[in-house]
This record gives sequence, structure tokens and C-alpha cells, in this order.
Amino acid sequence: MKKTILTLSFSLIIVLTSFGQTTIVRDPEIKKMVDEISRDNIENTVRKLVSFQTRHNLSVQNNPDRGIGASWNWIKSEMEKSIPQSDGRLSVELVSYKVGGEGQRITNEMELKNVVATLKGNDPDDDRIFMISAHLDSRAEDNNDGEVFAPGANDDASGVAAIMEMVRIMSKKPYSGTIIFMAVSGEEHGLYGAKHMAALAKEKGWNLVGMLNNDMIGNSGSSGTLLNDNMKVRVFSEGVPAYETEEMARARAYSAMENDGKARQLARYIKEVGERYVDQLTVTLVYRNDRFGRGGDHTPFCQEGFTAVRITEFNENYDRTHQVVREENGIHYGDTPEFVDYEYVRKNAGINLATLANLASAPYAPENVGISISGLSNSTFLSWDSPLKGKNPFGYYVLMRETYQALWEKKFFVTDTQITLPYSKDNYFFAVQSVDENGHESEIIFPSPARRR
Ligand SMILES: [Zn+2]
Repeated sequence: MKKTILTLSFSLIIVLTSFGQTTIVRDPEIKKMVDEISRDNIENTVRKLVSFQTRHNLSVQNNPDRGIGASWNWIKSEMEKSIPQSDGRLSVELVSYKVGGEGQRITNEMELKNVVATLKGNDPDDDRIFMISAHLDSRAEDNNDGEVFAPGANDDASGVAAIMEMVRIMSKKPYSGTIIFMAVSGEEHGLYGAKHMAALAKEKGWNLVGMLNNDMIGNSGSSGTLLNDNMKVRVFSEGVPAYETEEMARARAYSAMENDGKARQLARYIKEVGERYVDQLTVTLVYRNDRFGRGGDHTPFCQEGFTAVRITEFNENYDRTHQVVREENGIHYGDTPEFVDYEYVRKNAGINLATLANLASAPYAPENVGISISGLSNSTFLSWDSPLKGKNPFGYYVLMRETYQALWEKKFFVTDTQITLPYSKDNYFFAVQSVDENGHESEIIFPSPARRR
């Protein structure tokens, strides 16, 4: 049995030597793209979106200078500017869907549109899709008012601006998998736009590997407690999955994997890869699907059984979000562009870009990852199959951590599809991911109990 094992510690730059080859795991191409994200472009986009006065779901759709229709048309036309540089891989469309009816927050039936930019992968056999989303609609206090000034600079022009910047930068380069960039409507009235896309993904049987929802990524100061921090960003991920069959629940209990669902693994991945490429930003994992009593556009994807997380600022300012723009007792209320921290948005865009580029460049994840449960042993035997599709992995990382730890603590590199580790499976959690020669890691696969082969 040919076996190469290297123990690596997590650090900004990992140098991996195997078979005389040296691979720097911080891909210079991804670093270059992250460094290309422009704070000024993001600010200009936010201010342009605010200039439409309102992007409320009930606002005018056929005025070229005002309302939600002008907004989605403008976002689409801006994204289309990247088509020529994409070698025909980028396409942008408006996806219409019907909303409203009795008992819904929008009472009259009407049509809304999502902007969907698809950057096709360059491997025709690669059917993986990686998705990023923000919402283009906005609101002030009265959610039935489609007329009042509703700038929504932070909520969520910040997210839309980050995504538009990613389209501009990422569309120049080919990836193996497909990336879908979305600016959806309908969020403020009940996540309608995201629900439509999640249902579409389910209906079409998309191999949607991961979805990143970016909603409010530009506010760095808190209201009330007066904290200020643009060096920390939250990733919310569900623990017990919203979509879980009885069989899945039994497997979760058997393997004690309440902290090891797919969304939680994606959150860990974002932390590792994001912090690898973006300086002065710490990714904080929040062990919740979302904030108390609130939801976001990732939620419908979780409910359909997809892997989806919410990326959002660490501090919220309730004098801004959903407020009527006004001065009262010397306090400014309203979500206006001068209060967005554009340097913070730039960094948050960076962790998203790094995550998407790394995932979409990586080999497929290993198949049938199993942890042996036959017999009692103080060693742990893990085995898996190489992926059935896409390029052959250069090798695999076997990840390990103590059961009470939030993050993976040790990484073993192996070129074989099995490993015996001198650590007890009772005391540690393990997982496996594929990796290519440039250090691009696939998503993390938690093993199922298996009989030794
Ligand atoms: Zn929002």
C-alpha cells in the first residue's frame, strides 16, 4: 500500500512537499482576484442602487430611473458588461416569478424578477454548481409602502455590490464548476425570490454544492452598545438540518454529528479559505441558521435540502435597517450610503470570492467516505472512493479534531484512498476532502459508519 502522510498545521500559507513537488496552497491567482476587489467600485454601486430611491417589491417596475424595475435592469446591464471577457461562459438573465395572493404579505398577484448571472464551468462533465446571492429589494418602516425613500444601502445593496464586483473579476477566469451569482427580489416580503430559485434548483435536479447568502455585509458599528468592528464577520449555519429524513436523523444521532452537518462544514470551509486570502478579517461561526426569529435567503435552500449559509456583519445598527430616513433628536435614522463601511464590504467580498474560486477549482469531493466500526481499536480506519467525475484529485486531506472543538485541528495529506490513524474514533471527529496540486480543496465530507473493506 502506497501511502504518503503529512501532518499540516493550519496557517496562512501552507507549503506542501510530496514526491519532490512543492505546492503553495495559497493560489496566487485567487490572491490576485481578491486583491482586485475595489472598494470604490462597491461604493459607486451602492450609491447607484440608492439613486433609484426605492427598490421596494411594490414599487414601480417601468420607470427607467426609479423603483425596483430600474434596479434589476441596471444590475443586469452592468453584469452583462463582463460577457465579452468571459469567452462566452457568462450569461445574465432576468428570471420572473409570480408572487402574492390571499394570506400572503403581498396580497395582489404580481410578477417580480431575479437577476441571475451564470458563469459556466470549462469542464462539460462537471455538473457542480456553486451559488452566491444577495437581495436587491429594499424597504423602510411600512412594508406596504412602495413610494417612500427606501435606500437599503447596507440592506442589501452592500451584498449586491459585492456580488457585482465578483462577477466583474471572476468572469475573466475559467473554473471547473459553474458559479451562479444572484441578486434576488422579494426578500423583504418573505424570501420569495430565493424560494423560487431553491424550488427551481430542486426541480431541475441541480448538483448545487453550496450557497452563500450575503445579506447586510457593510455595517461595522452597533446601535445601543456602540461597538465598532470591521475585522469580524459572522457566518450563520444550521446545526440540525431544516431538511432531515428519519434516516438522516438516526445517522446524526449514531455519529453524534449534530455539529457536523453540511452547512456547518461549509461555514468551517469559509473560515479557513476566507482567512487564508483576506487580511484583517476573522470569520466567526454562529451556530444558528440565522438571528433570533429572523431568516434569510439561504433558508429556503436549507429547507430544500441544499447546503446554504448566511454571511453577515458582526454588528447590526437598528437605527439604519428598515427605518424611515430622518433626523430625530440629533440622531440619523435610515439605511443611507454614507454609513456603509466600504472597506468592510471589500473584505467580506474577498472571503466570498476566495471560497467560490477555491471550491469551483477543486476536484469533486471523495465518494463513499466511511469510518470503520468493525471491532474495537484505538486506531481509526477511514476509506473512500475517488470521485467518479471531473479531474483526478492530487490527494486527499483527512481532517481531525477533538469532539468539543469548533474547527478542524489537524490535516493529514494522503494520496491513497484509505488511512489508518493512531487516534481513537471515540475521541476525535474525522472528515475527508479532495485536493488538487494547486491546493484547491473540495467541500468537506463527514464519514458514515462502515464495515472494514
Ligand atoms: Zn436584508
